[in-house]
Amino acid sequence: MAVTDQITSQQAIDLENKYGAHNYHPLPVVLNRGEGVHVWDVEGKQYYDFLSAYSAVNQGHCHPKIVNAMHEQAKTLSLTSRAFHNDILGKYEKYAAEYFHFDKLLPMNTGAEAVETALKICRKWAYEVKGIHENEAEIIVCENNFHGRTTTIISFSNDTVARKHFGPYTEGFIKIEYDNLEALKQALEGNKNIAGFLVEPIQGEAGVYVPSDNYLIEAKALCEKHNVLFIADEVQTGIARTGRLLATCGNCDCADKNCSGTPDVKPDILILGKALSGGAYPVSAVLANDAVMNVIRPGNHGSTFGGNPIAAAVAMAALEVVRDEDLAENAFQLGELFRSEINKYIETSNIVNLVRGKGLLNAIVINDDEDSDTAWNICIALRDNGLLAKPTHGNIIRFAPPLVMTKDELLDCVSIITKTLKDFEK
Ligand SMILES: *Cc1c(COP(=O)(O)O)cnc(C)c1O
Repeated sequence: MAVTDQITSQQAIDLENKYGAHNYHPLPVVLNRGEGVHVWDVEGKQYYDFLSAYSAVNQGHCHPKIVNAMHEQAKTLSLTSRAFHNDILGKYEKYAAEYFHFDKLLPMNTGAEAVETALKICRKWAYEVKGIHENEAEIIVCENNFHGRTTTIISFSNDTVARKHFGPYTEGFIKIEYDNLEALKQALEGNKNIAGFLVEPIQGEAGVYVPSDNYLIEAKALCEKHNVLFIADEVQTGIARTGRLLATCGNCDCADKNCSGTPDVKPDILILGKALSGGAYPVSAVLANDAVMNVIRPGNHGSTFGGNPIAAAVAMAALEVVRDEDLAENAFQLGELFRSEINKYIETSNIVNLVRGKGLLNAIVINDDEDSDTAWNICIALRDNGLLAKPTHGNIIRFAPPLVMTKDELLDCVSIITKTLKDFEK
């Protein structure tokens, strides 16, 4: 069978089942094309993408500007490794550092790698700048976090399926309740070994948990007081998803679309991935100011593909699209509309308990048990009705369409969602 041979959905699924490791449980739909907010399956059926590859495709599928940047760079120079310089990495680093208001950027490929990088930088800073004794640094993390799949990262996860039988685990992490400032205060007080606090501005995988309004600001202030690095994992929430360029600028009212930060919540280390490339290529990054980033010296860290010319060209184009098309503002407006429409439905619904989120990162909570299959069954029905979404738990469905959606398309999607939900009302 040649790669160009047309196969049916069932054939594609059978091949994956037989020859691929079973580390995922995908919704049974086989896609072979995407454009903007739409994807098509191999039988030609069109769907709204309401997951956006977990918020990687914020700029929409196959955005022409991003595809073109990738194509041009791929024809010119794809990989040098960091053994040599190339003429685009520095341009990208300058562009992204200024875009997000940091001194420096360290390029990686996947989100998990960027989280690993941030943890390493934080530990090194703890020993060389803060003066913690060797091997005694601790990093505070939150319960129900999702930061990726490496051995160190799953060491501080509390998802049993992700953790079990993958030990021994990496030490040096303290887990506290999310959105609980008192818990953070207690963990910080009287412990001189705390190096950093790693947090998601909104817990995406956990089910789109939005913390209280003052949480990030106060958490940042506590970290400052204790000389602890505030590390924001914005792999999912960043790049306009939540109605701001970054979710850590959630309380910034400035209308300047180029503003990426509030003086209130400026992370010491910012982690980006997913939509940094618009979904075209694996690109992630860690950003920090010199006082932190300069602890990294030649040989301390690296990646063969990190910062390669294609990644640099793609990421620059992807960030330009976010700014040129005002995607943060669109996500903000459509998010308000989405939640108000779904809330209208909820008033008379027995099957949906609530909708929550920010911008176009939202979830509905289904009136059923966490381990029920209701959310899955609703997603199958949504698929049949032309909209693709995925449960995060047995009773939670995340809704995160590409940010290039129009108001009319969003209302069309709301009507698909509400019509589908009606069939599940008891
Ligand atoms: C997806 C995600 C990651 C991991 O990114 P990968 O590219 O899958 O390794 C890390 N943190 C958050 C918050 C994420 O949503």
